[in-house]
Amino acid sequence: MKIFTSKHSLGEHLATLRNKSKTIGFVPTMGALHQGHLSLLQIARSQTDQVVCSIFVNPTQFNDPKDLEKYPRPIESDIQKLEQGGCDILFNPGVNELYADNEQWHLNLGELEHLLEGKFRPGHYQGVTQVVYKLFDIVKPDVAFFGQKDYQQFMVIQKMADMLNLPVRLVMCPILREPDGLAMSSRNIHLSHDERQHALVLSKALNWFAGNFEPGKVSFLIGHCKEMIGKEPGVELEYFEAVEADSLLPAANNSSEMVILVAAKVGQTRLIDNLIIS
Ligand code: AMP
Repeated sequence: MKIFTSKHSLGEHLATLRNKSKTIGFVPTMGALHQGHLSLLQIARSQTDQVVCSIFVNPTQFNDPKDLEKYPRPIESDIQKLEQGGCDILFNPGVNELYADNEQWHLNLGELEHLLEGKFRPGHYQGVTQVVYKLFDIVKPDVAFFGQKDYQQFMVIQKMADMLNLPVRLVMCPILREPDGLAMSSRNIHLSHDERQHALVLSKALNWFAGNFEPGKVSFLIGHCKEMIGKEPGVELEYFEAVEADSLLPAANNSSEMVILVAAKVGQTRLIDNLIIS
């Protein structure tokens, strides 16, 4: 695996690959890699000739400085995992490589930015679109791979790509879970043994909703799931919502495809999860 920290060196290397008609797949991450990230890498490898993964803990998407500070950064073991997973190129830039001092610009993402995660993490999606725009500009991927785990993030990035006519195809990859149902996340390492058990209520509530779903019952099911999560010790619910899969606006009772999304703090650790219901 080739490792680049400079955007210019990476750009030159990718230009030579493109001249050889190689297609470029791209998997952006913030590191602390787990099987979920590596599944994106495998899907990327199956669809493109050369895969670039990036590891960059993007400061502009954190609205809580403590969260940024304590975000795990095990770069040596991440490099090993990427090598073993067959990644071709790692881009691991420092903050100054991507951002100028006092850089300020934003995209008008409309309502999408203020719903769900946007309500609880103001400015988060401005940070996400800034960094993904910059990374797309450097890597110029043919296809970029993102997890359904961050469903709203996928919709926001798709909207940016559509608005700015970016020549990239986006692929949404399934959520990888631990055997007991907990969605894999870099943040799970912060959970104590007890918190790890309590966190299971999130995937249990999503599955209960899906298992009991019938048109016309959406509000009842949401109410029950909120109650279920509310009763779990140490779990502080932020939202549990059923929304239309494309607009992310509240789902109508006769929606053909909806997504149920949940966010909660388990102890000090903020977790998100979701399930698509067709
Ligand atoms: P992150 O490092 O958390 O920014 O995540 C990088 C990419 O991995 C994003 O596209 C996430 O949606 C995706 N991802 C994170 N967790 C999972 C998971 N459990 N299963 C599949 N993809 C995931």
